[in-house]
Amino acid sequence: TTPQPVTVVGLGPMGRAMVTALLDRGHEVTVWNRTASRADGLVERGAVLAKSVVDALAANELVILSLTDYAAMRQLLEPAPAAGALAGRVVVNLSSDTPEETRAGAEWISRQGAVMIAGGVTVPPSGIGRPESSSFYSGPREPFERHRATLESLTGTDYRGEDPGLAALMYQIGMGMFWTSMLSYWQAVALADANGLSAKDILPHAESTMNAMPGFLRFYAERVDAGDHGGDVDRLAMGEASVEHVLHTMSDAGVDTALPAAVAALFRRGTAAGHGADSFSSLVELLKKPSP
Ligand code: NDP
Repeated sequence: TTPQPVTVVGLGPMGRAMVTALLDRGHEVTVWNRTASRADGLVERGAVLAKSVVDALAANELVILSLTDYAAMRQLLEPAPAAGALAGRVVVNLSSDTPEETRAGAEWISRQGAVMIAGGVTVPPSGIGRPESSSFYSGPREPFERHRATLESLTGTDYRGEDPGLAALMYQIGMGMFWTSMLSYWQAVALADANGLSAKDILPHAESTMNAMPGFLRFYAERVDAGDHGGDVDRLAMGEASVEHVLHTMSDAGVDTALPAAVAALFRRGTAAGHGADSFSSLVELLKKPSP
C-alpha cells in the first residue's frame, strides 16, 4: 500500500523532525507554519508548503499538529475559515498540555465536526523516526487504528484508551519525573562545582546513582500497590536524617538550597504525621493529598 498523505502544522524542532521522518518513509507531506521560513529545508526535501492553514487542513484527512500547546491550537484554528475547514479531519495533536486542556481541546475539535487524537511524544526530535521510540496516544479508537501505521512512521505507538486526557496524563507523569530528576542532577553539579569538581568528574557516580533507580522503582511499586509501607528495609526517620545531611552539605557549600529544603520539608511532614518507623514510601500517602 502507498504511504498515506499527511498534513503537518507547526514546524518547530519537533514538527520538522516529524516531516523529515514522514518524507523518508515516502509519505506526501503538506506543511504549514506561522513563520513560513521554517519550511525552507523541508520544501527542498519534497514537502508541499500550503499557502494558508486552511489549505493545509483541506489537503489531507490526517492532520498532525505540533504546536507549543493547546492555546496555540485555539489561536490558530478558532478563526472562522480555519474552524470551517476542520470538518471530516482526523486531527492528531502532538502538542503537549495538561489532561484537562487536552480534553477541552478534543471537545472543541469534535464540535467542528472533526475528531481529535491526543499524543504525548516522549522523545526529543532526534528520537523521531526511530521505531524504538514510543509515544502515548488516546482518543477515539477507530480513527487511531486507521492511522496507526502512518503514526508509526514517527515513533512506536502506545494507545492508552478513548479518553483523550490519558495520553497527556502519561506524558505529564513522565515529565514530572524527568524535570525533578534532572533538577536533582543540576543540584549535584552545583555542589560538585562548589568543591572544584566538574560535571564530567562526577559523571560515573551520577550515572551509577541514576542506573540504580529502576531497581528501587520495581521493589517499591509492588509494595506500594499492596499498601505496604513496612519499615523492614528502610525507615523514614533514617531517611529524614539523611536528607538533613544533604541539606547541610549544600548550605555549607554555599549553593542554593531550595530543592533540598523542599525535600527535607516533605520528610519532616512524614515524620510529624507519624510515619517515622515506616518506609519512606509512606511519603506517597502525603503526596496523594493537596499540600496543606
Ligand atoms: P516549539 O514551541 O519550538 O514549536 C512550536 C510551533 O508552534 C512553532 O512552529 C510555532 O510557530 C507554533 N506556534 C506557537 N504558537 C502559535 C500560535 N499561536 N499560532 C500558530 N503557531 C504557533 O515546540 P517543539 O517543536 O519543540 O515541540 C512541539 C510540541 O512537542 C510541544 O508541545 C512540546 O512540548 C512537545 N515536545 C517537544 C519535545 C522537544 O524535545 N522539543 C519533546 C517532547 C514533546 P512559529 O515557528 O511561527 O513560532
